[in-house]
Formats: sequence, C-alpha cells, structure tokens
Amino acid sequence: MPGTEFFGKEEKEGVNEVLNTGCLFRYNHEELRQGIWKARELESEVCRFTGAGYAHAVSSGSTAVSTALAAAGIGHGDEVIVPPFTYIATIEALLLAGGLPVFAEVDETLCLSAEGIKEVLTSKTKAVLLVHMCGAAADMDAIMRVIEYHNLILVEDAGQALGAFYKNKSVGLFGKTGAFSFDFFKITTAGEGGLFITDDEQRYKLADSFADHGHDHIGSNRGMENHPVIGFNYRISELHAAVGLEQMRRLPEVIRLNLRNKKIIKDLLSTLPDISFRHMPDPQGDSGTFLNFFMPDNETAVNVMSQFAKDGIGGCNYWYTNMYHFINQWDHLKDLKSAAPLAIHHLGAPQDYHNLELPISQKVIGKLISLGIRASWTEEEATDFGEKMKRSISKVLH
Ligand SMILES: *Cc1c(COP(=O)(O)O)cnc(C)c1O
Repeated sequence: MPGTEFFGKEEKEGVNEVLNTGCLFRYNHEELRQGIWKARELESEVCRFTGAGYAHAVSSGSTAVSTALAAAGIGHGDEVIVPPFTYIATIEALLLAGGLPVFAEVDETLCLSAEGIKEVLTSKTKAVLLVHMCGAAADMDAIMRVIEYHNLILVEDAGQALGAFYKNKSVGLFGKTGAFSFDFFKITTAGEGGLFITDDEQRYKLADSFADHGHDHIGSNRGMENHPVIGFNYRISELHAAVGLEQMRRLPEVIRLNLRNKKIIKDLLSTLPDISFRHMPDPQGDSGTFLNFFMPDNETAVNVMSQFAKDGIGGCNYWYTNMYHFINQWDHLKDLKSAAPLAIHHLGAPQDYHNLELPISQKVIGKLISLGIRASWTEEEATDFGEKMKRSISKVLH
C-alpha cells in the first residue's frame, strides 16, 4: 500500500492550507479560497503525469468508473464485456448504469485477453470495460486490434494501475474514457477519491457535468449555471484533493522504489524451480505495486499460502478465494440481488452467471499469488523478505 506508506508533512500542510481558508468546496467562492484550488491542481498533476488531455477528480474510484461509463455513452441495456477478476466495483458500476455484464476470460496477463474478448463477442456487444489489474497494463496491441476491428467502445478501469504504462502510453488513455482510484489501498491515496481521464474534450465536458448534478461550471454563480445533462454528486472535497495532490507528487519516487524492491524479490524467487511470473506485455511500464507469481497448480498455491502463514510471512494475497476480487465468490451478483430493480432484471442477463465457463481464468487465478510490494522497504529488508519467502516456498515445492 505505497500510498499510506509515505504520509508526511506535505499531506498535512496541504490539508491545513484548505482548512485555513475554510473553503472545502471545489467550485466557486473565489474570495474565500484565496487562490487555493486543490481539486484543479490534482487534475493538472494527473494530466501532466499520464499525458491525458483532460482529467476530472471525483469522490472515489467507483464513481470514476461510473463517470467513465456515462461519458462513454454506456447505459441502459448495453452489453459490455468485463473480466471475472477485478475489484467488484467494476461490475457494480456497470449494473447500476443499467448495463449488462458479459464475462470473458482473463489470461496470465491477469487482464482480459484479446482471445477471451473475441470468444464472447456478439452483434449486441457495445463495449469492453477493461481492467488493468495489479499495477500493470493489459496486452493493448492485441486488444486494440479487436476493439477497432469490431468497432467497440473501450472504457478502462485503471483503478489499481495509476503509474502503469504500455509502450509509454498511460493506462486509461487507450479507450474513450478511463478511471483511477485514490482509495486507502492504492498507490496514491486521498483517503477516498478517484480520477476520470480522457483525451476527448466532449467526453471530458460530459464527465465534468455528470459528476456534479449536470452543472456546466461556466461563470462564477453556481445558482445560475446551466445543466446540459442529468448528473449526480460525485464531487471530491478540497480536503481529499489536497491529500491526493501531494500523493501524486510522490508517485514517481514511489514507483522507483516499488520497482527496485520488486526486482530484488523477483530475482530471488526466480531461482526456484516450478515458479513462473505474470505475463507483462510491456514490463517497462510496470508500476511495481505487486509481484504476481504462479505456482504449478491451485493446490500448491494453497499450500504455499498456508506455509507463509506458518512462517509469519504477510503481504501475500490469494485472490482465488478472496470475496471481492474473483467471480467465484460473487454470489449476490450471480443472484442479481439488488436494493431495487435494475435494467438487468427487466432485460435479462446475457449469460447464465451461475454456469459460466471460464476455465482459463479459473486455472490462472487458482495458481496465482500476489505479493503487495512495500516501497518503504530498504534494500536489505526487501532481500530479507525475499529470502524468507523463498525458504517458505521451497518447503512446499521440494
Ligand atoms: C479500487 C478499485 C476500484 C474502486 O475504487 P474505490 O476508490 O475504492 O471506489 C475500482 N476498480 C478497481 C479495479 C479497483 O481496484
């Protein structure tokens, strides 16, 4: 969780600057705010870092995904291809928008594969909601070929991939719209927060209005603004934006340390027989938040996880049985339990969610172990940790 590892005086000062003016709201109040515009600065910083033409800060990664879907024109009855391995917010955002999820295979990139997308494509498919999992990009060349050939809309949930690039292009900029999360567990945190990005001015304007009750944000009298679309309150507060901004400024250094520590551990584990690593289509663009490795099979992965527990090694995740990251545990979703009826209840689900066949995803996620890299480790601590992991895994593999 690098975000929370580096919390210092900059974040505190940023929050205090906002508190000192008393303007906690991101719009208007020019006199009160004394030139302090944290949300705007955060947006500029995200544009600068990612190279995005436009960025809009919102209240969470989840509302950023909702905003990205809305601004891409995805809504009622639209069939959208999604991965079975993600954070559940991806699927929730689509369902609440009135969309209909179609699950496709992920592969050893831990993201949707071009093959997986092709397998479930039908004439009704409108879009792909691609998730760049665990800090690195999907196989974008292959995926973009499918997107372009079939004239699909691409929306990117880069909730856990800020800092990841594919051939020097930031994740979130391959499709029409993209989303990042700044929640407590991400590479940069604002406490709660998210960012919408796009290169398309029209989509940006839609997002900017959608995330604030449709306001057009023209002029300095909020009460007299026009409302080009219906929207809702997905605004970020200046307090959260102040924290997010300082975290953005730390990001290049966090990535450097992540990659250094990850390499130390990966080099140590690489000498083990029967271990393999996540396939990264562009390893240069990794943000280094996770070291993802595969055991030969599901059973060995489970045994390694219990050996880690016995040996007191924390920080590894087994997503296969995690309640919120893999489809096997999403019973409420498969049963379509919701507080009130959704579009999918009226229109019907495009797949039988209780009997999905995703053998590749089952196999890949079943043998996957994910280590969350700590950027704050010294080189010695990373080496020590890697050696402990290696000894623990050897006990199982011998
Ligand atoms: C964290 C995450 C989200 C949701 O972000 P929040 O800020 O927690 O709402 C969405 N998608 C992915 C892939 C995530 O990892």
